[in-house]
Amino acid sequence: MNKVCAIFGGSRGIGRAVAQLMAQKGYRLAIIARNLEVAKAAAGDLGGNHLAFSCDVAKEHDVQNTFEEMEKHLGQVNFLVNAAGINRDSLLVRTKTEDMISQLNTNLLGSMLTCKAAMRTMIQQQGGSIVNVGSIIGLKGNSGQSVYSASKGGLVGFSRALAKEVARKKIRVNVVAPGFVHTDMTKDLKEEQLKKSIPLGRFGETIEVAHAIVFLLESPYITGHVLVVDGGLQLVV
Ligand code: NDP
Repeated sequence: MNKVCAIFGGSRGIGRAVAQLMAQKGYRLAIIARNLEVAKAAAGDLGGNHLAFSCDVAKEHDVQNTFEEMEKHLGQVNFLVNAAGINRDSLLVRTKTEDMISQLNTNLLGSMLTCKAAMRTMIQQQGGSIVNVGSIIGLKGNSGQSVYSASKGGLVGFSRALAKEVARKKIRVNVVAPGFVHTDMTKDLKEEQLKKSIPLGRFGETIEVAHAIVFLLESPYITGHVLVVDGGLQLVV
C-alpha cells in the first residue's frame, strides 16, 4: 500500500499508538512533533520506511514547510491525524494569557493550519480523511480546564463545519473525543480518585483510542462525527 498518513503528535501517547496501528496496516507514515529526536525514534521503532519531521503546529510556516517536505519525500498525504496537544490546567482567574494562547494555538489553530495545508492536495486528489483528536472535556467542560475545554470544543465546531465544506470533494473530517488515557499528559493526575468517577472504572489505554481513530480514518461513509472514547465518563459528568 502506498497511502500516506501524516500524524501530528505521532511521537508519543495517542498519536504514537495510531502510528503503530497504521504501520501494521501498511501505510507510509510521517511522524511529526516538535522534538525531532523523539519523533525519529518513534518512526524507527515502527520498522519500514517511515519518516519523522519536526514541526510546531502553532506556527504556520512550520506547517507549510512540513507539508512540502512530506510531499517531496513521501508523496501526497491521503490521511491526516491531529493528535498534537497540550494542557495548562488552572482556574481561569489564575491562568496566564500566554498559557491561554499556547493552548488555543496548539490545540485549535494548529489543527486548522494542518487541515488547511492538507486541503490543497486532498482537493486535488478528490479524496482524503482527517481525524482531529478532541476531548470529552471539550464536550462537557471541567473546572480548571476552561481554556483547554474551549480549544477542544472549538475543534468540534471547526471539524463539523469543515466536514460540510469539503464533503463534495470526498474529503471526510471526524473527531475522536477521549476521556482519561494513560499518557504523559495524564501522568500527574490523581488516578485512584478520578477512576472512581469513570463507569468502566479505569483510565483508557492509547491503543484503545487509536483503534477508534483508525476506524474513522478508514470509514468511507462517516463524516462530521464525534466519537467519544471515555469508558462511559460522558454518562456521569
Ligand atoms: P502526549 O503529551 O503524550 O503527546 C503529545 C504529542 O503532541 C507529542 O507527540 C508532542 O510532541 C506533540 N506536540 C505537543 N505540542 C506540539 C506542537 N506545538 N507541535 C507539534 N507537536 C506537538 O499527549 P496525549 O497523547 O495524551 O494527547 C494527544 C491528544 O489527545 C492531545 O490533543 C490531547 O489534548 C488529547 N487528549 C488526551 C487525553 C488523555 O487523557 N491523554 C484525553 C483527551 C484528549 P513534542 O512535545 O515533541 O512536540
